Amino acid sequence: MTPVTAFPEINVTRPRSLARVIRAVPASDGAGVRLLRSLGQTPGARVDPFLMLDHLSSENPDDYVAGFPSHPHRGFETVTYMLDGHLLHEDHLGNRGHLRSGGVQWMTAGRGVIHSEMPQQERGRMRGFQLWINLPAAEKMKPARYRDLGAEEIPDVALPDGARVRVVAGTLDVAGARAEGPIAGLATEPLFFDVALPANGAFDHPLAAGHSAFVYPYEGALDVAGVALPTHAAGVLEGDGGIAVRANAGAARFLLLAAKPLREPVVQWGPFVMNTRDEIEQAIRDYQDGSLVG
Ligand code: MN
Repeated sequence: MTPVTAFPEINVTRPRSLARVIRAVPASDGAGVRLLRSLGQTPGARVDPFLMLDHLSSENPDDYVAGFPSHPHRGFETVTYMLDGHLLHEDHLGNRGHLRSGGVQWMTAGRGVIHSEMPQQERGRMRGFQLWINLPAAEKMKPARYRDLGAEEIPDVALPDGARVRVVAGTLDVAGARAEGPIAGLATEPLFFDVALPANGAFDHPLAAGHSAFVYPYEGALDVAGVALPTHAAGVLEGDGGIAVRANAGAARFLLLAAKPLREPVVQWGPFVMNTRDEIEQAIRDYQDGSLVG
């Protein structure tokens, strides 16, 4: 007689697959800064709650010196991550923040900021990213808030297999390593890692079920669950499992972003992102009459 034993439940969740590739296209923003835009190049190229990802990478000052002079934002968060270079941030209240190599500025625009983001160098390499993350309707009009993080405040974790992970937001939790990013407590529960893989290196990590996720290789290329993802392309992941990627020929560096989707209507007019057209018209009126930043 064969005893009937209950097998332990095995939770076989396959890693997420590559659902969509959004190749970055050249774009110009601010006073003529040349950059690569993946998310946000069209209204359809968003990954709720992520609205836009711009990648600036140049050794030619003509591509960046003009910077981003005074301009407004309302209704979302801007995350600026510098790899190389020096930007000065100044807002309408006189707040100033220096953003240097390896640092992050996490700005919650809320009801409004008017600010400038200007390069503080006339030569050399300028390399970094700006990510826009939407805010839920209930938080779009909250007061603006800044987090300026120096490189030393962002955990930089060396994994046993040679990978390195900088943990900007969320929790790194793999065998042998755990680290908390300095950004926490946001409604969208973002995870923001900058991962460097050696040649043929791999990175596997759990992701919260139901959260949106994408990867953006900015050096080298990736293999995402068996499918090739080229450099300078956002690879949108689908499924409820974690991420399983491998450097595809040579070393690779990539951003991994994941967050809880808001599933709310998005109406964008340039630097204002609200839920309805009326709210956009209100934002434009508020900017014109000086009450955006009330
Ligand atoms: Mn801005």
